[in-house]
Amino acid sequence: MPISSRFTIPIEICSLQAYLFDTPTAPLPDKVAFYDAERPETHFLTLEDFRLWSLRLAAGLKKAGLQPGDRVLIFSGNSLFFPVAFMGILMAGGIFTGANPGYVARELAYQLKNADAKFLFCADGSLELGLEAAQSIGMGKERVFLFDDLVFEGINTSRLGVRNWKTLIEPEAVGKSFKWYEPEDPKDTICCLNYSSGTTGVPKGVMITHYNYVSNAKQFAHLQQLHPDEPEKTKKAKWLCFLPLYHAMAQTIFIAGGPKRRIPVYMMKKFDFIQMLEAVQKFKITNLIMVPPIVVALAKSPHTKKYDLSSVIDLGSGAAPLGGEVIEEVEALWGPNGPKLKQAWGMTEGTCSLLGWDSRVKSIPDSVGELNANCKAKIMDLEGKAEVPVGQRGEIWVQAPNIMKGYWRNPAATKEVFVDGPDGRWMKTGDIAYVDSEGRFYIVDRLKELIKVKGYQVAPAELEALLLEHPQLSDACVVGVTINGEESPRAYVVVKESEKGKAEEKEVAEWLSKRVSKHKRLTGGVVFVDVVPKNPSGKILRKVMRDRAKEEVGNN
Ligand code: AMP
Repeated sequence: MPISSRFTIPIEICSLQAYLFDTPTAPLPDKVAFYDAERPETHFLTLEDFRLWSLRLAAGLKKAGLQPGDRVLIFSGNSLFFPVAFMGILMAGGIFTGANPGYVARELAYQLKNADAKFLFCADGSLELGLEAAQSIGMGKERVFLFDDLVFEGINTSRLGVRNWKTLIEPEAVGKSFKWYEPEDPKDTICCLNYSSGTTGVPKGVMITHYNYVSNAKQFAHLQQLHPDEPEKTKKAKWLCFLPLYHAMAQTIFIAGGPKRRIPVYMMKKFDFIQMLEAVQKFKITNLIMVPPIVVALAKSPHTKKYDLSSVIDLGSGAAPLGGEVIEEVEALWGPNGPKLKQAWGMTEGTCSLLGWDSRVKSIPDSVGELNANCKAKIMDLEGKAEVPVGQRGEIWVQAPNIMKGYWRNPAATKEVFVDGPDGRWMKTGDIAYVDSEGRFYIVDRLKELIKVKGYQVAPAELEALLLEHPQLSDACVVGVTINGEESPRAYVVVKESEKGKAEEKEVAEWLSKRVSKHKRLTGGVVFVDVVPKNPSGKILRKVMRDRAKEEVGNN
């Protein structure tokens, strides 16, 4: 029997813009939505500003030729205006896609081309790289915009012949004839393409609909709002965003979740441990939403104790596994009556989160909680034939209103991840878990190829394809290894007959480092092998390699 959530909540069938702001002109509380954490006194956007700037951008994008369903790629770290760009694109009927600001030109070009983006917004420091990527796929400069914060000062810079995004702002648009785009069918209309490699292969655009987004924002809020003290807590809440907004996790929580609940978000450009501690102390941040390496730093760094973190009443972690010991260490910082760290589990294909904690319940450190409202799951045997009994391990399959529509222009990959049966459509997650008798989930392993480095996705298939371009190599297999609690990519490569004795492991690792962003580097090592084991149809036997890697490196 599938496991059903204990909760059923009503979910509006509307656009994300209608969910957040109701209408383009409905009165909004006079509250700040976003502060720039570096200059909060002068640089902030009220809820009204957030909507207004988004509407003005939407009007400008439409004027520039954006049609409903067109994609706009944002290549930038976090900024006060990132949420504006996100919502402006949606209000114009477009689809947002965001790329990791650490990408090299090749990686960006892949996403630009795959998403078939009409416009590209580049942060100032990324403009050269953005132009290189655009040029490599034949995208003209007129479709690239410089995306900087100087717009706040009214300064409209232009660099390298690229227009500033400010030129798209239509100051007169609002309150007159301009109406935001309201999809006819929010359940079917895509608002966002976040990239994920899913269970296999290279990164793919995950088609998230307006309804998916609204559902997940509501589910996330619902679990927190179950607590009787929640209205008071929400009133006092202050959130800090240091997770990257191009990724599903930060987006759902900070662009949709915070503003909807009228909770101010202090925006950091990127993660910096000391700056995070300073910000918590200075702004009296109440909730810390983290990924495991940040939790580890918090637990282990000698700097942590130098700061007053007493304002924090909620601690959360997601995106990758986290050990129970670290959780205890981090909780000890606040003492026995302090916040308890709650792990949540989700994936880009589920908009953001699928499992979390009822705020009235004492969390269990190793568990990632129970199903979000309106969700169902089954734990299936690894052949995908039958459900396993309570307490036994298997792959999680899910059915939920926040599950993606499919992979962008990739029906084969979509078909592979969905299973249609008499009890509806299920999505295979590629994660292995067991459930206890209370309906709480424990993630224990990963069936899919995906490697997660500091919460960032690394697709082995992408690295393998690149390694095959190395002039001395003829085959490659990349797997994840866990070293000191952190996942790292490790490559097993076959050297061409003619190059044997000449190739060097270190050189292969360095060669790859020049072609990928930092988190994809082969920090787990490179090993020369005679052959990469494959099944008769040529598929790499990853389990064999993963087991070998575990034996060689350990799994601690
Ligand atoms: P992403 O799509 O980038 O959010 O990555 C989703 C994947 O990250 C999941 O399928 C899991 O493999 C992993 N993941 C996310 N949250 C957790 C968690 N709390 N514990 C263990 N793994 C997690």
